Amino acid sequence: MSKWLCNICGFVYDEELGDSDSGIKPGTKFEDIPDTWECPECGANKKNPSNWIKLED
Ligand SMILES: [Zn+2]
Repeated sequence: MSKWLCNICGFVYDEELGDSDSGIKPGTKFEDIPDTWECPECGANKKNPSNWIKLED
């Protein structure tokens, strides 16, 4: 499982935790999140790859 950093606000999406507020189940890989998903903190669009940085373990 990986973590993804929002390049705009610093929010971290953790694949282990998902995003329950948006209906993203724990264990959901970032690439499996619907393209309509947005950063819960700043609204950065998931489908714009420049908004997200993969954090290595
Ligand atoms: Zn953000």
